[in-house]
Amino acid sequence: MKVVRGAAELREAVAELREAGHAIGLVPTMGAFHEGHLALMRAAHQAGDAVVVSLFVNPTQFGPDEDLERYPRDEERDAELALGAEVSVLFIPTVEEIYPTGFDTHVDPGRLATILEGAARPGHFRGVATVCTKLFALVLPDRAYFGRKDAQQVAVIRQIVRDLGLGVEIVPCPTVRDEDGLALSSRNVYLSASDRGAALALPRALEAGLHVHRGGGMPDEIVAATRQVLDAESRLSVDYIAIADLDGPTLAAAVRVGGTRLIDNVLLNEGEGGPVGAGPPIGPSAGVGTR
Ligand code: AMP
Repeated sequence: MKVVRGAAELREAVAELREAGHAIGLVPTMGAFHEGHLALMRAAHQAGDAVVVSLFVNPTQFGPDEDLERYPRDEERDAELALGAEVSVLFIPTVEEIYPTGFDTHVDPGRLATILEGAARPGHFRGVATVCTKLFALVLPDRAYFGRKDAQQVAVIRQIVRDLGLGVEIVPCPTVRDEDGLALSSRNVYLSASDRGAALALPRALEAGLHVHRGGGMPDEIVAATRQVLDAESRLSVDYIAIADLDGPTLAAAVRVGGTRLIDNVLLNEGEGGPVGAGPPIGPSAGVGTR
């Protein structure tokens, strides 16, 4: 595995892989690797791609009151884990490398980036879109792998690739969860033991919503069942619960516990890698949300 920090070095390493006949699979990350990240790397490797992982805590996708400064970082551990996941190139740029002095061009995604996470975190998807587009331009990957844990991100990136003709195949991968059901997230390290206990209401609530869907429930009933479980946990505050067509019809929620904001979602209809829903299909027009 090569660890590279500069764009020129990156291009050279990727060119060598191409010359050796490999297709390139890119896995964009912000580091603090867990099994969710490693699953993306393994998926890329299993697809036969030479795997390029970017590790960049992207300042432009954090709001002014968010956790940019305290975001968990451990480059050495991440490099070891990437090596174990058969990554070929680990790209760890500086902020200056990605946003050199005078940088003044952004990718501004449309409607999809204004709902749910986009409404809660203004500018977030603009930052994500800009960094991913830049990474796509630097690496020119055949495929890029993203986790369904961030289903709206998958949808936004797909839209950008389609709209701008970027020619990258976007591969969504299933959410990896701890045994207790909590979706893995680099931010889970912020949770105290009791926060974590409360946070478990999030996957439980989504499961309750999915159950209502499977029983033939309507979108408002699905959202109500989800809310009921979340409201029963006094330590959680609900940011949103919604059904939206993200990467397929999706029940998504965001909550706060202690000082930590957590998101999670489940795919409602049968779909690749997602939970299997046997209820009536919910069409792309569904858009029920509550705050
Ligand atoms: P992050 O480092 O949090 O920006 O995440 C990098 C990539 O890993 C994104 O595509 C995420 O959606 C994905 N990811 C994060 N957590 C999980 C998880 N629990 N399961 C699957 N993918 C994940």
